[in-house]
Amino acid sequence: MASETDSEENGCPHLATMNPKSHPHTRGCEECLKSGDTWVHLRLCMHCNHVGCCDNSKNKHATKHFHATKHPIMRSLEPGETWGWCYVDELGFDPLLG
Ligand SMILES: [Zn+2]
Ligand SMILES: [Zn+2]
Ligand SMILES: [Zn+2]
Repeated sequence: MASETDSEENGCPHLATMNPKSHPHTRGCEECLKSGDTWVHLRLCMHCNHVGCCDNSKNKHATKHFHATKHPIMRSLEPGETWGWCYVDELGFDPLLG
């Protein structure tokens, strides 16, 4: 049994810390654009506007960005997709921005 704090109400305290007006720095994954790599899907960091590639992409830059920066919330940048994800709580939100 993991003994975690019981302070979670709707599950994710990080939603309050993100920037709801976050919008992408670049048109593609920042690191892949630099290295000339390709990606499958794009993810936007809701804390610093970093654009990274998803876990189906070989470089997984969105997840690497979380590990490097501890920025917990990202959203999909795919057309028509409104969901977001908290890496810390491993919770999904759809839509992320009510
Ligand atoms: Zn969270
Ligand atoms: Zn990438
Ligand atoms: Zn970030």
